Amino acid sequence: MKYVLVTGGVVSGLGKGVTASSIGLLLKACGLRVTSIKIDPYLNTDAGTMSPFEHGEVFVLDDGGEVDLDLGNYERFLDIKLTRDHNITTGKIYQSVIDKERRGDYLGKTVQVVPHITDAIQEWIERVAMIPVDGKSGSPDVCVIELGGTIGDIESMPFIEALGQFSYRVGTENFCLIHVSLVPVLNVVGEQKTKPTQHSVRQLRGLGLTPHILTCRSTMALEENVKVKVSQFCHVQAENIITLYDVPNIWHIPLLLRDQKAHEAILKVLNLLGKAGKPELDEWISRAEKCDKLHEPVHIAMVGKYTGLSDSYLSVLKALVHASVSHGKKLFVDWVPASDLEDATKKENPDAHKAAWKLLKGADGVLVPGGFGDRGVQGKILAAKYARENRKPFLGICLGMQIAVIDFARSVLGLKDANSTEFDPNTKNPCVIFMPEGSKTHMGGTMRLGSRRTYFHVLDCKSAKLYGNRSFIDERHRHRYEVNPDMVGRLEKAGLSFTGKDETSRRMEIVELPNHPYFVGVQFHPEFKSRPGKPSPLFLGLIAAACGELDVALHSCGSQRTVLNGVVNCPMKLKYRNATPAKCTNGLPDGVYSNGNGIYL
Ligand code: GLN
Repeated sequence: MKYVLVTGGVVSGLGKGVTASSIGLLLKACGLRVTSIKIDPYLNTDAGTMSPFEHGEVFVLDDGGEVDLDLGNYERFLDIKLTRDHNITTGKIYQSVIDKERRGDYLGKTVQVVPHITDAIQEWIERVAMIPVDGKSGSPDVCVIELGGTIGDIESMPFIEALGQFSYRVGTENFCLIHVSLVPVLNVVGEQKTKPTQHSVRQLRGLGLTPHILTCRSTMALEENVKVKVSQFCHVQAENIITLYDVPNIWHIPLLLRDQKAHEAILKVLNLLGKAGKPELDEWISRAEKCDKLHEPVHIAMVGKYTGLSDSYLSVLKALVHASVSHGKKLFVDWVPASDLEDATKKENPDAHKAAWKLLKGADGVLVPGGFGDRGVQGKILAAKYARENRKPFLGICLGMQIAVIDFARSVLGLKDANSTEFDPNTKNPCVIFMPEGSKTHMGGTMRLGSRRTYFHVLDCKSAKLYGNRSFIDERHRHRYEVNPDMVGRLEKAGLSFTGKDETSRRMEIVELPNHPYFVGVQFHPEFKSRPGKPSPLFLGLIAAACGELDVALHSCGSQRTVLNGVVNCPMKLKYRNATPAKCTNGLPDGVYSNGNGIYL
């Protein structure tokens, strides 16, 4: 096993995650099997309890792991399927060491950061790196490890120490360290300044880690004399100094690395030049170039809570990009703060109210993403109502589906107080209710999480056609509430069609309005499995419908696959209350990126 460690210096938000994903992609393009591990030195056990506002979205894996959004980048770029163990946190490591201590496994020894925590880190990395993640058997060739945070952070010290030891443990030919740094340009003189990089490399060396390759973020390519200077002061060969300058979209980053022969430098350090081939990136290149040339616009109104921060909905945005690039349209996301649509805002801030409605009405399609808590819920309900009544293409994800059902119960069934018990525990008409298997006291990891199976119950519906007329699909979930099965009959009678259900047929997974151009709500999160080369079918449907081209899209999806004997396979064996997660069969991933300051693509 060969390891590539990616660290970051000077400032955070340099694009370490996208650099690491791009390195992985490049090595994969050379014919190697690549996996990845993300280390987050915070104390949380996982990202499940972290606010998307503070930390960006919580990414969900097939196994139900709630992890850092960078794992989404890896899955998308490398087309792999990771597990919760691929995201290491200080919390997880300490928990494992403390559990071991309580079991008496340390045989009376004093348990310390060095060697017990540092050993646990190294053992964890070695164990997880061997897990096949590309659907094939046997362990991968290379593991890219990204160390979160910036060199010098107090909380990353045990990891730095462990990784220093690890480089000796695995041997020089098996360990390559890439340090991502910053070369700022001072506007007054326009000079590329190398001092921050020098300091950061010195700090890294002081902690026992020697970089083999430096990737320098800068606005422009590094001037030759600047490269020579960095090389001399940092003791890194000039050909191993790569500039990551600003590019039109993040799909160009792997190409920047390739053009500067970063793969050759890495393969040389890892003694893999004999094993690897030339990078094959034709499909990737044509997509990156296609993306640059798009000009026909499609406007999607994103009605959410955290509209200022694109990282909060990263995978949703990526899925929209994948679908619009594939459909040949230039995507414009119109952020609509859900609460601004509400009547209360009309009184308090009429301008914001007017602006929000103008955006919603002007968009070609409406998307209401997942969410928790009641802020902005009324605004989201109004957005679904507007889309329903005005035949505007609509995609509701998780909470977005639940609010669409609430609107329908209120507006069409006339149940004025219909609500989710998440927002009104005493409602007389609970159309969305708490799921029996949830926990109200413990937040972390207690939702219905990960890959579960949905069976299509209506064959002649848009979602089934978009998924290529398959009888079932596996998508990722993260929710505590669900559509009240006892109200489904009434809702259906009034025209709402529950086209997809779980294996018990009691849990609603997909809802559609048959007589609407495109009105789809899903209890799962299709965004987590969207890939640049394999966009999520439901996002494709939204974009196509928003462009008035859904028929064409449905036609091409329908021709891909047909249902065996026209029969929907829907086993009823499992009991509703203890239904087990379906085994995931199609977890092939794709790629995206954000630098912490916003979306690159
Ligand atoms: N809050 C809702 C639930 O827990 C929706 C969750 C979501 O959108 N991810 O069911």
